[in-house]
Amino acid sequence: MPADDLMDFDAVLERYEPVIGLEVHVELSTASKMWCGCSTDFGGEPNTRTCPVCLGLPGALPVVNERAIESAIRIGLALGCSIATWCRFARKNYFYPDMSKNYQVSQYDEPIAHDGAVDVLIDGEPFTVPIERAHMEEDAGKLIHMGGATGRIQDAAYTLIDYNRAGIGLVEIVTKPILGAGARAPQVARAYMDFLRDQMRALGVSHARMERGQLRCDVNVSLMPKGSTTLGTRTETKNVNSLRAVEQAVVYEMRRQGAVLAGGGRVTQETRHWHEGGYTLAGRSKETAEDYRYFPEPDLVPVAPDPAWVEALRATIPEHPQARRERLRAAWGLSERDFGDLLMTEGALDAVAATVDAGCAPAAARKWWTGELARRANEQGLALDDLPITPRDVATVQGLVEAGVLTDRLARNVIDGVLAGEGSPEEVIARRGLAVERDEDALGAAVDAAIAADPGAAARVREGKTQAAGALIGAVMKAMGGQADAARVRALILERLA
Ligand SMILES: [Zn+2]
Repeated sequence: MPADDLMDFDAVLERYEPVIGLEVHVELSTASKMWCGCSTDFGGEPNTRTCPVCLGLPGALPVVNERAIESAIRIGLALGCSIATWCRFARKNYFYPDMSKNYQVSQYDEPIAHDGAVDVLIDGEPFTVPIERAHMEEDAGKLIHMGGATGRIQDAAYTLIDYNRAGIGLVEIVTKPILGAGARAPQVARAYMDFLRDQMRALGVSHARMERGQLRCDVNVSLMPKGSTTLGTRTETKNVNSLRAVEQAVVYEMRRQGAVLAGGGRVTQETRHWHEGGYTLAGRSKETAEDYRYFPEPDLVPVAPDPAWVEALRATIPEHPQARRERLRAAWGLSERDFGDLLMTEGALDAVAATVDAGCAPAAARKWWTGELARRANEQGLALDDLPITPRDVATVQGLVEAGVLTDRLARNVIDGVLAGEGSPEEVIARRGLAVERDEDALGAAVDAAIAADPGAAARVREGKTQAAGALIGAVMKAMGGQADAARVRALILERLA
């Protein structure tokens, strides 16, 4: 645990103005890596998704992924940025074992997108986050520290390296210093990340799963004495991997730096690491740009996107995620509470929207995705969109329920089959024999048999005690393996015993 003194949050705000900056890495979901044809699929046997290019072997030459450039431009446009008419890649030189070339190809003073702004809503009020740049670069491999208790480098006996991730395209989005947020600074940071996550998914450029490192946030925080216009010394907290942690990291650094400054100390410019316990710890002192000896990458041609192409891409930018939420909330007519539940379940809004597009009523689609399917995903530690069922499948199942072909119970059984990989809903129904029995003769025979087997219940129903029909309905449903429409069975029983 850290031994930092912390100042009360409100006391910090009385004396200082917080300034935050967010550097976010977005891992692109292109099929292949940035400079080679290797797959970008998550996971896989270590070092199987590699080639001479992404391993940096001598003589291997990179070729830029056109789709990655398209993604970077669309990200820039979605952030309200200007798109460079000409820009280059640069080499960032350093020694890192997870980058076997000993340099990272990035962009330095010529980013593909620059000078934008996005509005986020804080308690219903828009707050503008100024964007400095969005540039392209490549991801590094993964270090796996072995032989220690914690999996951290400090107590590791040795380290393994997996280069599967090395060379996957990244777009780094950097804000300008965000001033004027005051007490709302932690919320602004969170709302901005929330915006980015939703917008990257809507653009289809990244899966943007923070827990998988597909959206990684470095949080810069500094404090400026009230009335001053000179920015204070900032710290950079690395790889904060959830929305909640982003908010907490801002609060923690504000309180920690407040205590340092109020005690007459100076904030050290450094990299810090976020700990799930809710605090930051000092890492290395921060390198400056000069340390990296940037120079233009000689193995790649400059990027000069055709303005007509950029304009065509502009037409593909989705609406602001908050505007979309408001539009869907109004269109679906769900209660405030049901819609709130939907937003709380990660991925549910998109799943429901796609299910509604496939012809399902919003209320039914919401029920499936935030109920049964959210439960199944939870049990298996999966995200909703990892479940092997499509929104179209869900719409089909719900359609069959409404047509009376399936009861709710049978529908869940069909969902089971689809999740188990038995095929489409129709195939599962055929294979498992799940459709509701529509054959009136078969139903009638089962009703007659149930009445004959339970004369006591039958007599009570004849006397007008219709609740006694429950036992008979149960017997019929059991005899039919649950594949009868209970309302129809009840009607038949009452008809016969009238
Ligand atoms: Zn490769």
